[in-house]
Amino acid sequence: MNQHGTQELSRPAGGQGRERLLSLVLTEDFRQRRRITVVLMTACVYLICAAILLYGARSGLFHAAGASTLAFICLATPAFFLALMRSSLNLRFSQPSLALPQAMCAQTLVAAAYAVSGPVHPATLVLLATVMVFGMFEMNTASVWKLMAYSIAAIGCVMALRSHQDPLAYPARLQLIYFVLAATVLPSISALSIQLRQMRERLRRQKAELESALHQTRRAATHDELTGLPNRRHMLTLLAEHVTRHERGGPDFMVALVDMDHFKQVNDSFGHRVGDDALTCFARQARIHLRSTDIVGRWGGEEFLLILPQSPPGDPNVGIERLRGALAVTEASKTAPHLRLAFSSGITRYVSGEDIDDVIERADQALYAAKSAGRNRTAVKLRPQQQAA
Ligand code: GH3
Ligand code: MG
Ligand code: MG
Repeated sequence: MNQHGTQELSRPAGGQGRERLLSLVLTEDFRQRRRITVVLMTACVYLICAAILLYGARSGLFHAAGASTLAFICLATPAFFLALMRSSLNLRFSQPSLALPQAMCAQTLVAAAYAVSGPVHPATLVLLATVMVFGMFEMNTASVWKLMAYSIAAIGCVMALRSHQDPLAYPARLQLIYFVLAATVLPSISALSIQLRQMRERLRRQKAELESALHQTRRAATHDELTGLPNRRHMLTLLAEHVTRHERGGPDFMVALVDMDHFKQVNDSFGHRVGDDALTCFARQARIHLRSTDIVGRWGGEEFLLILPQSPPGDPNVGIERLRGALAVTEASKTAPHLRLAFSSGITRYVSGEDIDDVIERADQALYAAKSAGRNRTAVKLRPQQQAA
């Protein structure tokens, strides 16, 4: 059971075990998890490439020593980046995804694979494009252009070198065609990846704007603009929630109606703006001086409604009197430094099963009694059976 008295749904044991394993391998940090997942995905590609290189070396298709060394580097590279991420050393870099260094390492290895893979070398060009696609989600525009320039330069150098060293396996004319193809395809992928990134950023921005607009709309529907307090509609919802909670064995609660004394005079003497300042001052002081479990809302005009859970019988008024004392010494508006606020209030206790309108009506009658008795005071009115008890 939790503190609200509701029982939490327990997770299945398998789910907990899986979560523990994921935390162990991928850490608990959500962003680090995503980065490590990407490294693990690239590790799978590296693994396959290493297997192909070893197969090529053993079958005599590839340059044996070169392909075997490269296969080892293909296994060591993702392991190195995985260790960097798992030890959180990557967080020391300005771009902790290390997308650009990872992609540059990968393109270097592709260029090396091109050099050792003999008759299969044109196929390795597909990997150049694959690496560009892998990097597109993590890299900014400058990094994408850097990677593209590096990739074209690296493969261009290897093509020139190999056509010079081994013109039979790497004929110069074919190398030229492959180079032109690479130099055409890689910039196209880069441009696409930049567009995609811009689209994602626009979507993310729009999502944030929508969320903020939704939050503002929700707040405007439930809160009073001047004081920031819950409005009448929201207070009715909160009252209904308190009633439901009470009916299910939750705490008793009292309801108080507060009305500012001689507020018309405040407006008439100092102007409407000072009146507004005074209402805002009341709201601020109420938040400070009532208990954190008490709820204050603007009921309308210069009237406020208070929900006071678990106020001890006979002494429901402590918070309200504290507020009254604070207002008597608080400057209500900078424009009217001598203005002090006073209010009258009527309190009643909710009785199980009764209509909430009856409770508010009783609080209103108590408020009327407080006004009649001379204002700046609180009157309590309970249901007859409560008084008898
Ligand atoms: P009483 O002690 O009997 O309650 O006297 P009162 O002057 O407070 O009561 P009355 O109902 O005659 O006046 C309420 C005043 O509250 C009149 C109205 O202009 C003012 N008021 C209501 N809402 C606002 C508001 O949002 N801003 C300002 N500045 N004044 C408001
Ligand atoms: Mg009034
Ligand atoms: Mg009033």
